Amino acid sequence: MKIIVSACLMGENCKYDGGNNCNQELMDILKGHEVILVCPEVMGGLLIPRCPAEIKNDMVVNKNGIDVTKEYHLGAKKTLEIAKDGGIKIAILKSRSPSCGSGKIYDGTFSKRIIDGDGITTKLLKENGIKVLTENDVELIKKIIK
Ligand code: SF4
Repeated sequence: MKIIVSACLMGENCKYDGGNNCNQELMDILKGHEVILVCPEVMGGLLIPRCPAEIKNDMVVNKNGIDVTKEYHLGAKKTLEIAKDGGIKIAILKSRSPSCGSGKIYDGTFSKRIIDGDGITTKLLKENGIKVLTENDVELIKKIIK
């Protein structure tokens, strides 16, 4: 099965701080599947490292107060294009990220407070019928991709 996966979950150093969110359990589960890695923030033109950003009032603003909404939407659009071109129906994206988060994201105050909501890429994928799971949905992922 072809699956879109957040590159940072597979060990790519594309996080805002230049690190990754490598998840060995997820990597093991995905063995044998065609994994297409995406990092919507980098695909949208942002650098590694970069200033962290959060969503507030439908805008994405970084900790320095710079509006990066355009870059986030570009990364989301490119991710959707990859999904459509590849006929991909499932994505496993990093939880709580302003791009990749699903169901829960930070509240826009940079205080680690979590609210209900989707990241920009996740929202666009869901609107286009693509199922988005996170690294916290391991049992569900096993069932879906077995
Ligand atoms: Fe990971 Fe997504 Fe953030 Fe890229 S945009 S570092 S893939 S959570």
